[in-house]
Amino acid sequence: MSVGTRSHKAAKVLERMGTKLNRQMVGSLAACVHCGMCTDACHYVLTNPDDPTYAPAYKADLVRKIFKRHFDWTGRVLPWWVRAKSVFTDEELEELKDTAFGKCTNCRRCSVNCPMGVDFAVVNRMMRGLLVSVGVMPEGVAVVSKDQWEIGNQMGVLKEDYLETLEWLSEELQSELGAEAGIPIDKPDCDVVYAINPREVKYDPRTISDAAKIFCLAGEKWTMPSEGWDMTNFGLFSGDDDLGGAVARRLYEKVTELRGRKLVISECGHGYRSTRCEGPNWAGMDVPFEMESSVITMLRYIREGRIKVDRARNTDAVTFHDSCNNARSCGLTEEPRELINLVATDFREMYPNRAENYCCTGGGGAMSMSEYTPRRLKSARVKADQLAATGARIVVTSCHNCVDGLTDLIRHYHLDMKVTQLVNLVARAAVVELKVAVPAVAKVPAVALPLEGYRILVVDDEADVLAFLSAVLSDNGATVVEASDGDQALDLLKKERFDLMTLDLSMPGKDGGVVFEALRRDPALAALRVCVISGRPELRRLIYERPVTPPEGYLDKPVSDETLLLNVRRILETEHRAS
Ligand code: SF4
Ligand code: SF4
Repeated sequence: MSVGTRSHKAAKVLERMGTKLNRQMVGSLAACVHCGMCTDACHYVLTNPDDPTYAPAYKADLVRKIFKRHFDWTGRVLPWWVRAKSVFTDEELEELKDTAFGKCTNCRRCSVNCPMGVDFAVVNRMMRGLLVSVGVMPEGVAVVSKDQWEIGNQMGVLKEDYLETLEWLSEELQSELGAEAGIPIDKPDCDVVYAINPREVKYDPRTISDAAKIFCLAGEKWTMPSEGWDMTNFGLFSGDDDLGGAVARRLYEKVTELRGRKLVISECGHGYRSTRCEGPNWAGMDVPFEMESSVITMLRYIREGRIKVDRARNTDAVTFHDSCNNARSCGLTEEPRELINLVATDFREMYPNRAENYCCTGGGGAMSMSEYTPRRLKSARVKADQLAATGARIVVTSCHNCVDGLTDLIRHYHLDMKVTQLVNLVARAAVVELKVAVPAVAKVPAVALPLEGYRILVVDDEADVLAFLSAVLSDNGATVVEASDGDQALDLLKKERFDLMTLDLSMPGKDGGVVFEALRRDPALAALRVCVISGRPELRRLIYERPVTPPEGYLDKPVSDETLLLNVRRILETEHRAS
């Protein structure tokens, strides 16, 4: 290989590409006949019909040209004939990054529609991995990968926060089901070890308590691990097999140490695929226990009569969104439908579905790459149309990533729908037959001031944070209005009256600091109570140093629902007394 004026990074990419060319990869790189049958399979193409750069075959050709130039004899001998082309500069690597990360969610819908068996998602994942290996990647990919390498989970949840969350969820469960219930940690020799997505700890602890309730009602001998508990794996998205192997190995070794008989994986498409299907290969390990999706576990409990359910408790019309990883890559299509029909009365199919379903557009790590958000939301029109056509009020999905992707597009396209997971529906339908007396240690809820009658503006650019904050506040009686950037927030503040605003600081466009100062300097708005909620502690100083009245509250992310309510109530109560 002639290096000539080739950049160091480009040379490394070419060198490493040679190590990735297994039979499946070469087949996908060599077999395309450019028939175009995959073109309309892609949601990016359907929403950008005049832009050929979104076509799966075009995107694959960017990699294929390099493969031909360096690893296929036709391209080495007759490069002009087979349109082989090398890569030389860092700018060219940046262009490849824009396609590999920003124009494909690795959803594999084009793959299942190719008559030649070309799997473009596999090629794209390889390209991502090569770029990541030389540091060319979106910032979000770098941050999440670092957290998973260094802290052990992709959301940077600290061990003490994880254990504290399980502890208070356990206490709540005991209040509901009795002292025998709860969440056992690190219990050896259990039939089930339950592993979760860190998003559940950070934004959606109700999915953990609902799962725990189901295990307890089923009389399961189960436990959750204190470490190595993250069953997601960002290596699947970043293309970094080393990260994939390290993450999978952590979980497998913990279950082995606990002598667990089965690993049950909570509802997460990429987590299920990574842990159950890809992980043993990445980790180079024989896994000595069974692995199962919690969807199958819940279905089995109902089939075996271990839990009783009353479907009349879920009467809203529901539809089901197939996660790409669950349906296309793991074949998990029938069990969720059987389960929905057991726990809900009005299930409406979405078309197309199962392996032909369209991506939520949040797949492939897209939710962590904010620079591509406008493209993602534009491509989400396909999914929005699919959802709207069902007429359902609730979309159920078995994937945390899809929960975020769907929530974001539902908001963007103003659909009147909510997103939930199967575990929530099953827990609501579960019949508790023997309610044990509430233990004396049950917590007294710290309700000092209900939120009924208060109007709260929630401002945050992260879709899952926005959804979490809004849900907690509205569940407690507040009327919540959402804004996902600074301009929208200022616009709403001028038009509507609010009692309080929660404000993120780091946002695209006008950031929270600018919004905060503008508000304080406007005589009509200056008295509005503000609770800053930011994930960047270094910005705290920049708020308090401003020459205006400081905010009434300041919380660091991640924030639990208890902390949020406590602080919001305190702020409102203080003002209450003062007025
Ligand atoms: S369907 Fe397959 S063979 Fe046809 S253009 Fe797409 S990838 Fe190539
Ligand atoms: S994998 Fe999905 S997003 Fe990527 S090109 Fe194929 S259909 Fe489009």
